Amino acid sequence: MENNYDVIIVGGGAAGLYGAINMPADCRVLLICKQELMLCNSALAQGGIAGVYDSPEDSVELHEHDTMIAGGFKNNPESLHILTTHAAHEIETLLSYGVDFDRTPDGGFHRTLEGGHSRHRIFHHKDTTGAEIVEKLIQKVQTLSNVTVLEYAMMTGMQKTNTGFSVQVMQKQGFMVCNCHFMLLATGGIGRVYGFTTNSKIATGDGIAFAYENGAEIRNLHLVQFHPTAFNNNQARECLLISEAVRGEGAYLLNCRKERFMQRYDDRLELAPRDVVSRSIILESRATGSDQFYLDIFHKDPEFVKNRFPMIYEKVLEQGYDITKEPIPIFPCQHYLMGGIQVNLHSETTVPRLYAAGECAHTGVHGNNRLASNSLLEALVFARQAALDIAEKMPSVQSGYDEAVFPAAADAKPLPVGLRTEIRQIMQSSFFVIPDQEKLLAGFERIQEIRSQLVSQNYQLDANYVEAKSLATIAYIILKEVI
Ligand SMILES: Cc1cc2nc3c(=O)[nH]c(=O)nc-3n(C[C@H](O)[C@H](O)[C@H](O)COP(=O)(O)OP(=O)(O)OC[C@H]3O[C@@H](n4cnc5c(N)ncnc54)[C@H](O)[C@@H]3O)c2cc1C
Repeated sequence: MENNYDVIIVGGGAAGLYGAINMPADCRVLLICKQELMLCNSALAQGGIAGVYDSPEDSVELHEHDTMIAGGFKNNPESLHILTTHAAHEIETLLSYGVDFDRTPDGGFHRTLEGGHSRHRIFHHKDTTGAEIVEKLIQKVQTLSNVTVLEYAMMTGMQKTNTGFSVQVMQKQGFMVCNCHFMLLATGGIGRVYGFTTNSKIATGDGIAFAYENGAEIRNLHLVQFHPTAFNNNQARECLLISEAVRGEGAYLLNCRKERFMQRYDDRLELAPRDVVSRSIILESRATGSDQFYLDIFHKDPEFVKNRFPMIYEKVLEQGYDITKEPIPIFPCQHYLMGGIQVNLHSETTVPRLYAAGECAHTGVHGNNRLASNSLLEALVFARQAALDIAEKMPSVQSGYDEAVFPAAADAKPLPVGLRTEIRQIMQSSFFVIPDQEKLLAGFERIQEIRSQLVSQNYQLDANYVEAKSLATIAYIILKEVI
């Protein structure tokens, strides 16, 4: 297999795939992902993708304003403007790839509403928008002769060289080193640093950790979003998300007495932004002394609910609840990361020629809290920004590829069991919706110990070790920012 490429993209979710699609046709691209392509957060997205496209009653200014309100006006206005003004282009492109957004009976788009949006502007494919988009992006990538895709290929090492970067890639058959002039990190979120998350198992923050080790600036990693309505099945570490769109279609939040309570916390009731709703649930749980909360949409027409949310209906039914007949148990859990690898408006990090896009990047569009359905859009818009910038810089890059050495240590031992669990427990107990000040310092000290143990000891280089080191690094940066 060829080892040298113009660009290596690490990650095959919305950002990685769309980045590959938008690279120039003469740019040789290697795209790697550590599991199969469909196993990523992008494919889990339910609610949809926000954007102003062909909508006379909406405007880019309103989309920006809603995003600013949700973000506490801490958003970067320049990157936000790029996000909202490019939305129409990306939605049109998705349509051209055959993405099947739901339609109204008269043939128009069925745009749904989610918390914090002042207009119906969420394009969706039933409640499985992410899977629909990823499938169509994969089909498009498969038509591109300049893009090589490797599934089950994990980045286990990354080093800057004089000519770009060397990436150590672990596959079933062993390790290899690939070199490139440009790199795009599109490795997604960090959900697995928490005990309970909606994120898929790939979300261990690897790209952020490698960028940090290579000297890239990481910003606002403590801006973690907790989704208010994850299905509350106490055993599952990966929680089923009950999309915000369910509240958008009229669902109520109920406390342990099965009473609505949001009127005590925010005028926008169930459709307040996520951070507000999550905090309200935690405060209400303190007031009532109970962690039992419910989402109730059974006052709506059962046929409408089944057709609008077929996946949620089926999955919840498998767990013994019928959403058309009864309220279902919910509770907040980790969902999204607003912070990440700091990038400029072209998605370049503070390390020249190292780019980042999607959930691992910090573009600043979300401010303190992401507005629902803005992240698929961000992944597409800023992956394309990276591709456009790389296309511009490619001709001026000197030819040739240096290759870094990734030393293999002899007599390495397996990773001790329990370190990953301990990291998750520390994060869940000290830095959940309302941080526990008393636990933060002790948690940080223990995370520091775990991290230096992982770095200094001679452990076998495998997925378990790389992910544990990433989780420790992510927890370390988050807690360091807040203590
Ligand atoms: C349940 C759920 C529902 C959501 N709903 C919505 C929604 O309705 N609308 C919306 O806008 N957003 C939604 N989001 C958020 C959104 O889906 C994500 O933020 C976005 O899709 C992230 O895309 P990404 O390409 O950055 O990462 P991902 O799609 O997660 O892709 C990450 C890729 O990186 C690869 N990778 C990671 N580490 C390595 C490594 N070391 N080596 C090789 N490959 C690696 C993975 O294999 C994967 O291919 C939702 C998220 C979840 C979890």
